[in-house]
Amino acid sequence: MMNIPFAESFKIKMVESIRRSTRSEREKWIIDAKYNLFNLRSEQVFVDLLTDSGTGAMSDRQWSEMMLGDESYAGASSYYKLKDAIAEITGFTYFLPTHQGRAAENVLFSTLIKAGDLVPGNSHFDTTKGHIEFRKAKAIDCTIDEAFDTTLDHPFKGNIDIQKLEKVLSSNPKAQIPMIIITVTCNSSGGQPVSIENIREVSRVAKKYGVKLFFDAARFAENAYFIKIREKEFARHSIREIAREMFSYADGMTMSSKKDAIVNMGGFIGLRDKEIHQQASVFNIMFEGYITYGGMSGRDMNALAQGLYEGTEFDYLESRINQVAYLGNMLKDAGVPVQFPFGGHAIFIDAKRFLPQVPKEQYVAQTLAVELYIEGGIRAVEIGTILADRDPMTRENRYPDLEFVRLAIPRRTYTNNHIQYVAAHIINVWERRNEIKTGYSIHYEAPIMRHFTVELGKI
Ligand SMILES: *Cc1c(COP(=O)(O)O)cnc(C)c1O
Repeated sequence: MMNIPFAESFKIKMVESIRRSTRSEREKWIIDAKYNLFNLRSEQVFVDLLTDSGTGAMSDRQWSEMMLGDESYAGASSYYKLKDAIAEITGFTYFLPTHQGRAAENVLFSTLIKAGDLVPGNSHFDTTKGHIEFRKAKAIDCTIDEAFDTTLDHPFKGNIDIQKLEKVLSSNPKAQIPMIIITVTCNSSGGQPVSIENIREVSRVAKKYGVKLFFDAARFAENAYFIKIREKEFARHSIREIAREMFSYADGMTMSSKKDAIVNMGGFIGLRDKEIHQQASVFNIMFEGYITYGGMSGRDMNALAQGLYEGTEFDYLESRINQVAYLGNMLKDAGVPVQFPFGGHAIFIDAKRFLPQVPKEQYVAQTLAVELYIEGGIRAVEIGTILADRDPMTRENRYPDLEFVRLAIPRRTYTNNHIQYVAAHIINVWERRNEIKTGYSIHYEAPIMRHFTVELGKI
């Protein structure tokens, strides 16, 4: 009997050409880009794994929904279609559309967070942290310690350490803690899931101290998939049932629809509380647009509603998460140090173990990311010291425990041949890793979220 190989749950109807380049072209382009991969033109990249955000392929059904978009300023049918989809999938009956995830954060945090506040959570995403710190509040990381050992096998490395959380809640006044944020899956610690058991515990503690619980839900469907596969109680539940269970413990959510809702642009806030919705509506109108479109076109809201349904189908999620693991397993088998278990949307290379000879002051993960680009035209992203930015008070560099190069896989976009191409190039760099001795220094950086615009020079 043959072993039946894995096959995707879709076929391809439309294609887009991409072009390979030469090593000498890439060596020139990366100098022009000041060694910042965000500065490259997309044509200078062959396989683009910079992010899985907004880079996925929409389905034929999503494109058909685009044609049905209602562009009325107020009360568009597209708004109600999206409202119904969100209520069905998340259980949140109040919602505000926003142009993307960080806009949802901006609106929600304008409503709830003030200077001096503390916001505990599991390794907050960079824009989330940016929006907290911009308000002179503080994000406190309460992720379990196991998350920081990339070799350790743990099914839910996104979990919150309940003792760390209780310590924050018990030693600070309630008025100073506007919310706890659980990021599902946890991007910053490697696309790692959070278990329902942990969500229940966090919810119990939140209620005990009278603090609200919000989800940063960009990858909630991938999180639900991992719960189904790894948490016994939910083995027979559908993805949508698990998602509803997850959200049932939260007071609200922010969503970057560019991730698990498989659209190129969009976001929203989901809420249970009418009063918070009313207050947030004021900021939504100020920053995003009227509350029935909030920075999105009617057609985009339609595609998003359809994407929420497709993104929560088991077969789709299985294809996606298997493709990510396909890359992870090829690298792991070759000895490349990767975060384990593999995340839902990306493979994270442990750059400190890949290039132990490069000093941390020379940006180890960035050094490796640049090398992968020169090697094969592969664009990954640094999740390390540059992203961690400076301490807002001392302005010193923050050196995170983990220095990652993230290979984020766009949804329904690349074939497994592309993935093989990526793995082969990374393994070639791994085999000549001892030749890479020095990294980079910063020539220019912005005062906040510096990684997008940083300019570097070779040491
Ligand atoms: C992408 C992302 C955001 C921000 O969303 P944008 O749509 O990029 O603004 C927030 N949180 C998490 C976990 C994300 O992955």
